[in-house]
Amino acid sequence: MARLEPTTYVPPGSFAAPPVFTRALAASPSLAASNGARRSAPGPASRESCRASPEGRPIGVLALQGGFEAHATALRALGHEVVPAVPSLFTFNLPNDKVRELMGVVAPHVRLRIAGTRLESVGPLLITHWGFSGPAVLRLSAFGARLLHDMGYAYTVQVDWLGDVDEPAARERLMTRLIEHPKRQVVNAGVFELPSRLWSYVLLRAGIPLEKPLGELGKKHMDRLLDVLTNDRYSASGKTTFKDEFVTAGGIALHQVDPATMESRVAPGLYFAGEVLDIDGITGGFNFQAAWSTGWLAGRGAAIST
Ligand SMILES: Cc1cc2nc3c(=O)[nH]c(=O)nc-3n(C[C@H](O)[C@H](O)[C@H](O)COP(=O)(O)OP(=O)(O)OC[C@H]3O[C@@H](n4cnc5c(N)ncnc54)[C@H](O)[C@@H]3O)c2cc1C
Repeated sequence: MARLEPTTYVPPGSFAAPPVFTRALAASPSLAASNGARRSAPGPASRESCRASPEGRPIGVLALQGGFEAHATALRALGHEVVPAVPSLFTFNLPNDKVRELMGVVAPHVRLRIAGTRLESVGPLLITHWGFSGPAVLRLSAFGARLLHDMGYAYTVQVDWLGDVDEPAARERLMTRLIEHPKRQVVNAGVFELPSRLWSYVLLRAGIPLEKPLGELGKKHMDRLLDVLTNDRYSASGKTTFKDEFVTAGGIALHQVDPATMESRVAPGLYFAGEVLDIDGITGGFNFQAAWSTGWLAGRGAAIST
């Protein structure tokens, strides 16, 4: 078991006062050096953040951002297993795809899949000037953070624009509307709850003239339309960084941390909180919650042990 040397962390340069419960502490000089250079906002360094207990046992709470290799190296040197960091919660880059002309359009409930994998998510999708964003996309990027990284961020996104309406149900709806209003132009069919710009786009993608009367839709057009509606495909390439990704997947392996106190099982006296742990959540405040909850536990754990 590694033991920490008593250390007072004063980074070279100044750093922002860290938030309550997530006061950062460097566990080793190399960790300190790795981050001191990154700080920009002014503020005093805290000498209290690493101190010895009455028995002389070093105490520290470590709450660093995930994803810095220098942190991982120092933590591994203390005997920790650090799951390699990959970005999570990112949007999909569709270079040169015509769909981007619909930027600003929101499809209210789509089902997304990554071809050749089991990755799937449902929810709203926002079309942007670089590709796809919105809750369904961010969620899928979180579920697939490691797999998509391993695929080099080159993958096919399958879009079911109808979400929970399956192909037979969609066909039936179209047939019913066709029988009821054979003379109505297909662009005005109003069968599905899709924004009008998206519906026009889908029709053109299926090779159907917008003015075509519903009653003149042949089987070929109908099949093609249903295919685009329920199994549209886009090539994603590269990873879009919009103000960086929101969270890091990877970090200290959880089996090495006591969940009641967040104390390291391999470096007693060291407590972990937040992103430095191998925890990442979907959108909805779960990452904040993880940081706050583990911060509270770690702060309490460290206080009780002194
Ligand atoms: C653009 C963006 C949007 C986000 N939106 C959401 C959201 O809507 N909901 C949600 O739940 N999560 C969201 N997150 C994720 C969330 O912000 C993080 O999961 C959370 O802040 C992690 O808290 P933390 O205290 O572990 O790390 P951080 O907030 O990164 O804090 C770590 C602190 O440690 C300091 N530090 C690092 N190294 C050292 C060192 N060696 N010495 C001293 N100090 C050091 C840093 O300066 C920093 O202040 C978002 C993240 C980003 C980037």
